[in-house]
Amino acid sequence: KRVEVPASVHGIDPARVDRRAIDVVRTLQQAGFEAYIVGGAVRDMLLGLKPKDFDVATNATPEQVKGLFRRAFIIGRRFRIVHVVHGRGRENEVIEVSTFRAYLDNAAAEQVAGNEKTSRAALAGMQHAVDSTGRVLRDNVWGPQDEDATRRDFTLNAMYYDPESQIVVDYHHGIEDAKKKTLRMIGDPATRYREDPVRIIRAVRFVAKLAALGFTLEPKTAAPLVQSQQLLADVPQSRMFDEMLKLLQTGHAIATIEQLKKLGLAKGIYPLLDVVVERADTPFVLAALTDTDRRVKEGKPVAPSFLLACVLWQDVKSGWERHLAKGEHALPALQDAIDGVFERRIGDVSGRGKLAADMREIWVMQPRFEKRTGRVPESMVAQLRFRAGFDFMRLRADIGEVDEALASWWQEYSTADEFRREDLMEQAR
Ligand code: ATP
Ligand code: MG
Repeated sequence: KRVEVPASVHGIDPARVDRRAIDVVRTLQQAGFEAYIVGGAVRDMLLGLKPKDFDVATNATPEQVKGLFRRAFIIGRRFRIVHVVHGRGRENEVIEVSTFRAYLDNAAAEQVAGNEKTSRAALAGMQHAVDSTGRVLRDNVWGPQDEDATRRDFTLNAMYYDPESQIVVDYHHGIEDAKKKTLRMIGDPATRYREDPVRIIRAVRFVAKLAALGFTLEPKTAAPLVQSQQLLADVPQSRMFDEMLKLLQTGHAIATIEQLKKLGLAKGIYPLLDVVVERADTPFVLAALTDTDRRVKEGKPVAPSFLLACVLWQDVKSGWERHLAKGEHALPALQDAIDGVFERRIGDVSGRGKLAADMREIWVMQPRFEKRTGRVPESMVAQLRFRAGFDFMRLRADIGEVDEALASWWQEYSTADEFRREDLMEQAR
């Protein structure tokens, strides 16, 4: 049932709404389409949080949306959307516009996929991406707003906000759940987890984020989580890797790990995540997670390579010792240890070349911090990834793994002028 909730009830402050999102909505509405701010932004504004980004939903097709804006790009295949670019196109200046999708249960989706094999003409009429899997088709079949709401995951994520009238359109008691501080899956939770097992991880992510406000998972939403966990085995590894990073990098890593334990999901979601959970209480990993949460909250960038380098550091160290014991020289021993760690812990998640290279660089820099002679310090600070390597060493100093004096020395050296650097080199001898 469609419920229109006025500002006097939902209390969203219109001043919180992103200017560019308003522009996009207005342009679409003036062209005769329905358009709303949707999803996480509505949820966050309703709860008094600052939205990370503003997404727009409309009944215009991607092609129609593209036609209305000077700089707009249709992206995605599994889920076609339009990026409307404002300003100079930095990431936070993109508004994502998605077309209302139909809600198809698995049977309906299979039927669409079946049709596709027999009749491509029918498909063209339905305006969705052509592919032979039910999944892709399901996600690109356009439909009315109420179906678009129903195919979303949580009631809190399924509200639509019209910045013109300031009305929130709510089909699934999202406003009520916000008041009750409940995170509730739309529909039958077990079925929804089966449709897309990543929703299991999303449940953890959102409840961890909202736990500080007093939210909990609705019992029926929580109940099938453990039995559904095995479904994650069918999710492509690269998507699992990305979802794991989202769990750790949205500013609530510590709370997420607490929730994983509380919900009985501490093990088995993803091998590398198991390692993070196991080590979350060790001083170094705890410091890294705390630091990551703090940085995100301060709006600073976080690199997945840094956090993962912290999580796997103890493997690197023990591997290094093993190789040294075999009589290898220091650097080759370290390189071999790192190779071993990548093999055992990261596997070949393709497209992770940059991430792995950054992790390796952070690790390889560590013994070099001990060498403060000749041109070593100079060349170290000139390295592109010096900051990451230094921050890593700083964290090691915080837990007493390296000398505090060494960390301060590098801190000072890295920001000093030429003359002060000479002094510092003297001092280090
Ligand atoms: P965040 O603040 O973390 O970005 P979000 O709610 O905006 O949270 P997104 O992943 O950006 O989350 O997705 C945007 C919206 O799309 C969600 O609010 C939800 O309505 C819908 N959605 C995303 N992923 C799924 C999914 N796997 N199943 C159902 N609906 C989804
Ligand atoms: Mg979002």
